[in-house]
Amino acid sequence: MKYDAILVRFGELWLKGENRDTFISSLYSNVSTAIRGLRFKALTKQRDSFTIGLDGRSDVGGLLSALSFAPGISWFSPVIFAKPEVKDIMKKAASFSKEAKGKVRIEAKRSFKGHKFNSMELVGAMIRAPKSTLKLDLDKGASDTLYITVEKDCAMLHLNKISGIGGLPVGTSGKCVVLLSGGIDSPVASFYAMKRGLLPVYLHFHTFPDKEAVLKSKIPVMVQALARYSNGARVYYVPAYPFQAAAMRMDTRFELVVFKRFMYNIAARIAEKEGALSIVTGESVGQVASQTIENMAASQKGVPRLILRPLSGFDKEEIIRKARQLDTYGMSIQEYKDVCSIRIRRPATRATAEQVDRLYAKCKLGGVEAKSLKAAIVDEVRPQRPPRTPHQRSSRRRTPS
Ligand code: ATP
Ligand code: MG
Repeated sequence: MKYDAILVRFGELWLKGENRDTFISSLYSNVSTAIRGLRFKALTKQRDSFTIGLDGRSDVGGLLSALSFAPGISWFSPVIFAKPEVKDIMKKAASFSKEAKGKVRIEAKRSFKGHKFNSMELVGAMIRAPKSTLKLDLDKGASDTLYITVEKDCAMLHLNKISGIGGLPVGTSGKCVVLLSGGIDSPVASFYAMKRGLLPVYLHFHTFPDKEAVLKSKIPVMVQALARYSNGARVYYVPAYPFQAAAMRMDTRFELVVFKRFMYNIAARIAEKEGALSIVTGESVGQVASQTIENMAASQKGVPRLILRPLSGFDKEEIIRKARQLDTYGMSIQEYKDVCSIRIRRPATRATAEQVDRLYAKCKLGGVEAKSLKAAIVDEVRPQRPPRTPHQRSSRRRTPS
């Protein structure tokens, strides 16, 4: 089927004034970056939507796929244009007959009310039309919907809506430093941070002996998958050995909670450099012994940045379900020697901030922070073009969000 354009709708209707302009221009810039290099005619901005003009050579599949990775989009759909006249609308509606396969219901609305017909009259004419003209099997209860929007100069027709991610365009909430491990949770946390408009800079603590080994590990592959939502990302790889060497003198039961403080502090230093206001982690309240409220509070004392934990209220099953949907799960469960994977048999579950302060000073970890950062590798990751579209799998729905 030959479409004229792709309609892109954003849904945060509460947006007002300056907020709204920032949202729209940010989304416009993110979408134009995401579709750069793909064939299309033009990306144009309307009041509450964009359209991507198509011709016979446009890469419709690639464009739809790119849109499914852009936070801030409520839904999108390939559309056909018609003249704002009942006859032409019916003619164009008939061209959906193959696409629709079974029965369809019609949902018509007018955003311009100056034409000679209203929505009811349009639908009435379609119901009365002989099957040989309309070529569609109309049924109020059908699961497929043919949407018709009549505007001043044209009408737009599309079959169903493809759900976008929703949320806010990446960048509208500023930058954050994401503590990314090799596990299941932090990639999911990063997705939710991006969904609320945060632009991530990644920080990973590694146990490799050299730069080549880090860059050949699964972490850059993981970041590549996440970078599809943000059109690229910067990653800091910081060696864990300076901490591990300094922590030899520590009671092992406190090692994790002190290492958390250390990770947060390094993240805060990177945040300072990058102009990021927050730190994001994949922690979930009570998920493991080290993630008690007491331990989290003890770890975060004195960290000069807001720490966001988007998965605070998630069960592990919910996180796994989301990781599968994001296609990060397979990578997360690949074997990997993560810093935190050396499980201490009985980690402290009720550490206090004072205990962490004391151990931090005893092991001179303030100095170790600077030393670790000096040995950091910074990498710029380009997004991997997706072969398929996770958000299109559950795409059919009838009502806009
Ligand atoms: P994940 O599945 O994200 O690894 P987890 O359930 O294994 O989480 P922890 O090992 O306690 O839990 O890690 C909690 C959080 O600390 C992670 O979600 C991540 O944000 C951060 N973190 C852990 N290890 C690292 C690491 N090597 N580099 C950067 N951040 C890390
Ligand atoms: Mg982990």
